[in-house]
Amino acid sequence: MSNVSLRWRMLVETSLLVALVAGGSLTFGVIGTILAAILAIISVVFLSKRLHRQFTELTEDVIRTTSIDRSHRLDPTGPAELARLARAVNRLVDRVADDVSEESAERVRLALILDSMRDGVVVVDDQGVIESANPASVELLSSLGAVQPGMQLSSLTSHPDVIKVVTKSIVSNKTVTAEIELFENQCTIMAMSTPFPRPDSDLTRALLLLTDLTDVRQLDTTRREFVSNASHELRTPLAGIRASAETLQRGAIGDPEGREQFLRMIREDVDRMDQLIAEMLELSRLESGESPLDLKLIDAHSLVETAIKQFSAIAIDSELKLEENLSEDLPTVLVDTKRIDHVFTNLISNAVKWSVPGDTITVKGWVDDGTVWFSVADTGLGIEPEHLPHIFERFFKTDAARSQPGTGLGLAIARHIVDAHGGLMSVTSSVGEGSEFAFTVTT
Ligand code: ADP
Repeated sequence: MSNVSLRWRMLVETSLLVALVAGGSLTFGVIGTILAAILAIISVVFLSKRLHRQFTELTEDVIRTTSIDRSHRLDPTGPAELARLARAVNRLVDRVADDVSEESAERVRLALILDSMRDGVVVVDDQGVIESANPASVELLSSLGAVQPGMQLSSLTSHPDVIKVVTKSIVSNKTVTAEIELFENQCTIMAMSTPFPRPDSDLTRALLLLTDLTDVRQLDTTRREFVSNASHELRTPLAGIRASAETLQRGAIGDPEGREQFLRMIREDVDRMDQLIAEMLELSRLESGESPLDLKLIDAHSLVETAIKQFSAIAIDSELKLEENLSEDLPTVLVDTKRIDHVFTNLISNAVKWSVPGDTITVKGWVDDGTVWFSVADTGLGIEPEHLPHIFERFFKTDAARSQPGTGLGLAIARHIVDAHGGLMSVTSSVGEGSEFAFTVTT
């Protein structure tokens, strides 16, 4: 039996005993009974006051445990019933605390995932009010200010198509997707809105997923342009071969001089096609990383001297001065010799092509802040400033170059080779003064 019930029983039994003793005496019969009753009432009042105080203390303790100090636990001492109650409350509080911390860990995990996603995720209710928006969505839609839950979707984007996708999916209760061009942000996005119900009501809200398609579309455009440029470049020599063959067929074949001339033209067009195909294949190999670099340590001086040697006869023929200007402290460099030689060949042959007799071409090499730089500078015709940003693009040729032989792929290949070595390539030029193409390599 518990302490409280025992005490109650002792009090009542004592009171009854007093009543019996008192009741046994004829003289004090009535008085004794009254005294016993008063004693019993006093005991009950005393005990109930004590119990009331203990319950009040326990209640305050429970309030403190559940609301003020969550780490506080009830003291499981005192009367047995109260101690049991305290232990039960402590167990309940522990369980709730575990559930809450599990739930908040899950929330943090979800928030981290949403924050690190490259795709934009926005939850919008049927009134167009944002319930949540991750940073990628703000960046993709290029929202001006910080987006807070409770704001209208129109504060995140004013683009009507984005808002239309969300509205349509909520009204039709179906997933709606659309490819949208955001001109002001210069990007293309795929917006997919999926309706889903609120757990506590019949109202529908939408999960808007935004994917940046700019790179994919850019790649598509580049591919289309490449195919169209390559076809165009191949068609030119092909047309030349056809014209020469037809002229020979029409009778020129009987004229030894004419035959020689048209056969030479056919040969030149075939060479042009051959070079174009070889350069396209090289570019494709470089872009796909199919043929890895064969890196070897080589003396920078000998690298430049090998390149210069190949052009010394051409320079004399074209009445150009071909010089080298290499600093003494040039170290050995870690490069794919064949490929870096290809870069020098392209730059020097361009310099020869765009210089006039009397001009100077200088191949330089120097070290700047631990980085090895090479450059090919000419005092030739120079490049118009509006062409400079496009100079490394595939098939790019200046207006003056269109009538000249050349595929327009040389500089694109050179830059890819330098990129693959982890280097940088740049150009400076001034019309009438000349150009300088520079690149870095690792040591
Ligand atoms: P191409 O096969 O036509 O030479 P490149 O990619 O090597 O192709 O060069 C692209 C264009 O850049 C050339 O057609 C030419 O218009 C311009 N260019 C390149 N190098 C020079 C230079 N040193 N001086 C002037 N223009 C140049």
